[in-house]
Amino acid sequence: MTDTRLPIPAKIQNKTFKDTFDKYSWDEVLTGILSKTKEDVKKALHTSKRDFEDFKALISPAAKPFLEEMASLSYQITKKRFGNTIQMYAPMYLSNECQNICTYCGFSMTNKIPRRTLTDAEILKEVDFIKSKGYDHILLVTGEANKTVGVDYINNAIKLIRSRFSNITIEVQPLDKPDYELLMESGLYAVLVYQETYHKDEYKKHHPKGKKSNFNYRLETPDRLGQAGIYKIGLGALFGLEDWRADSFFTALHLKYLQKTYWKTKYSISFPRLRPHSGGLEPKVEMTDSDLVQLICAFRLFDEDVELSMSTRESEVFRENIVQLGITSISAESKTNPGGYVVEPQSLEQFEISDERPTEEVVEMLKGKGLEVVWKDWEDFHG
Ligand code: SF4
Repeated sequence: MTDTRLPIPAKIQNKTFKDTFDKYSWDEVLTGILSKTKEDVKKALHTSKRDFEDFKALISPAAKPFLEEMASLSYQITKKRFGNTIQMYAPMYLSNECQNICTYCGFSMTNKIPRRTLTDAEILKEVDFIKSKGYDHILLVTGEANKTVGVDYINNAIKLIRSRFSNITIEVQPLDKPDYELLMESGLYAVLVYQETYHKDEYKKHHPKGKKSNFNYRLETPDRLGQAGIYKIGLGALFGLEDWRADSFFTALHLKYLQKTYWKTKYSISFPRLRPHSGGLEPKVEMTDSDLVQLICAFRLFDEDVELSMSTRESEVFRENIVQLGITSISAESKTNPGGYVVEPQSLEQFEISDERPTEEVVEMLKGKGLEVVWKDWEDFHG
């Protein structure tokens, strides 16, 4: 089998983001953001090269009156950098078994729900449906249960479907570097690993039990991925657990550290907001639609190249309004339960999706806005 990994210089093997992260205080970061003024925002809008202080200004309350200007700039930058294209992907949930307790998730270990892990035959049935809709980029999702959906199960799933998709991304438990190397040899393209919140104490409250309770192991996962030479890493925080502005600053800090350290790898940012689920948790800090628009535009102004992704957690109306303001990839018709497309549509979802329109309808909406729909991830992967 060909080794497709990117070469990583030996000198960076021992460094991780934790060294950078530990130099920052959550409270100081938040105070810094909240103290930004209109003058800071104007400077951030009109400079050609934006730094962290500019990013803080763009996500601050002082930037609210400038939202229209931010949206206009974000639109222009996205059009210039990505053309009028938008990439489509489909999530496929393989299992809802999980050994973690996460306060915000329907699959949490103590939730009394029927547990299910797809067999090979069931995976292929789901794949047939997803392919029939045109998708060529798939996101495989599992809970964190080593015995049932550990590395061997994920590796088998990737091998099983690799001939059917140009791009296979996973969102599963954080793994060690050799595990990622193995999965890449089998055809893995990208990994999404969200920190949920960069607030250490709040993180502990929301992840009291299981492997996920180890904050640092999760924080250093993108480093292990970068060291393994993965093609793309997806970052994000779950908005609602803590202050979205501070969490976004730390996401941006994480992104810049990774880009500098693993410069051959590509990056994407997602913007999940807490959604209702079984045993539902109310957001501690609300993030309004206007806040989310502000954040997406701020990320686009801060980094012209990073891919920005939007899932079906958000409503039809919101998605229609945001697709031209910086977003570069989008899912549609998603099911967040294992077998949800055809095998067992009635099983319990991880969270409720909001935009339930069929893929065809979403594609029509995108085309109506002048966007060209791209089904596989960006061409240079294969180039
Ligand atoms: S968020 Fe992930 S790890 Fe946590 S309970 Fe849900 S599936 Fe398990």
